[in-house]
Amino acid sequence: MNINKHYLELQESYLFSTINHKVAEFQREHPDRKLIRMGIGDVTLPLAPAVVAAMQAAVAQMGCKSTFHGYGPEQGYGFLREAIAVYYQRFGVTLPADDIFVSDGAKSDLGNILDLFDADNTVLIPDPVYPVYVDTNVMAGRKIVFADANEENGFLPMPDRSVHADIIYLCSPNNPTGAAYSRGQLEAWVDYALSEDAVILFDAAYEAFICDEDLPHSIYEIEAAKRCAIEFCSFSKTAGFTGTRCGYTVVPSELVAQEIGLRKLWLRRQTTKFNGVPYIVQRGAEAVLSEAGQRQCRANIAVYQENARIIADTLRGMGIWFTGGKNSPYIWLKCPGGLDSWTFFDRLLAEAGVIGTPGSGFGKNGEGFFRLTGFGEKAATEVAMKRFQNLFA
Ligand code: PLP
Repeated sequence: MNINKHYLELQESYLFSTINHKVAEFQREHPDRKLIRMGIGDVTLPLAPAVVAAMQAAVAQMGCKSTFHGYGPEQGYGFLREAIAVYYQRFGVTLPADDIFVSDGAKSDLGNILDLFDADNTVLIPDPVYPVYVDTNVMAGRKIVFADANEENGFLPMPDRSVHADIIYLCSPNNPTGAAYSRGQLEAWVDYALSEDAVILFDAAYEAFICDEDLPHSIYEIEAAKRCAIEFCSFSKTAGFTGTRCGYTVVPSELVAQEIGLRKLWLRRQTTKFNGVPYIVQRGAEAVLSEAGQRQCRANIAVYQENARIIADTLRGMGIWFTGGKNSPYIWLKCPGGLDSWTFFDRLLAEAGVIGTPGSGFGKNGEGFFRLTGFGEKAATEVAMKRFQNLFA
């Protein structure tokens, strides 16, 4: 038996374990200090009442012989795929429910989709980046080229015509930088992908945080994108489903490579390797998209958006360069005083009792930057930013 040696090429991810280790040590030495966690990438507010009610009703159905559900359709129940198709209409995007695949979250599908592509493809990945894109391709032994995101391009890299790519990852609004692509910028990426015969894997996990009216929520707002893009989305950050697990992937029937429709391949892959998302969870997800569910989920998102605004306003007032904070729960700031990411982490922890995430953990271009998130509580966010201000003013 031979193992997949590419697993040995994976870089150990020390980011969150090092953070936890440093925080635990600090807390041991200073048991009375109250720390404020602003590094978390997880939601903190509970599921919306409409979602809970729908899931409770679904549990009751599962306990009754006449309404019990066994294996569901691998692609997801029609009721949820139809509701997602209706949701897309608000962005002016028409999608047949057949092109929508319900998943147990964006992370799984972002990795699983690679089943459709030969190992011999060149992958273009922005740096800094959500680490899953890099690691899943390293596991398959694919060649990776990086697109530099930096202060000059506002952490929104654009296509370089001198670089060839077969598979392109875009994440907008972005984790970790919070930056979001404009329509014109996405058009340029779609043009580039079509000219390279490449596929764009578009991660829209944070689309629900977009509040600027002219920013696209979906890559399919660019008409030609149906010929070159797969979109991944999730109820995790939209509706607090990080522990409940539900998302969706769109593979348009117009997307064809070497005369083969990718939708058909993906359906084959899913029916072979995936047995669907629990009925109870899909009923909960359907409720997210109901009128009451939208109102309640939007209210939760507004709490995170308000926290992000507080952080952004403080940084703006201090003249600190940053991206995000609007259209995203993330704020990506340039470490004051030219500090490197870990030195800044240490100072913020020791002197302000605030925990964030060093940007260097997301790629080489993250060095000298730092991620804060709006997923905490408002009062704690305000206290944290006061301390931040006192420390670096
Ligand atoms: N994509 C991005 C950019 C993320 O930041 C995350 C989670 O943090 C995911 C995908 C994963 O989402 P899910 O919970 O749906 O797997």
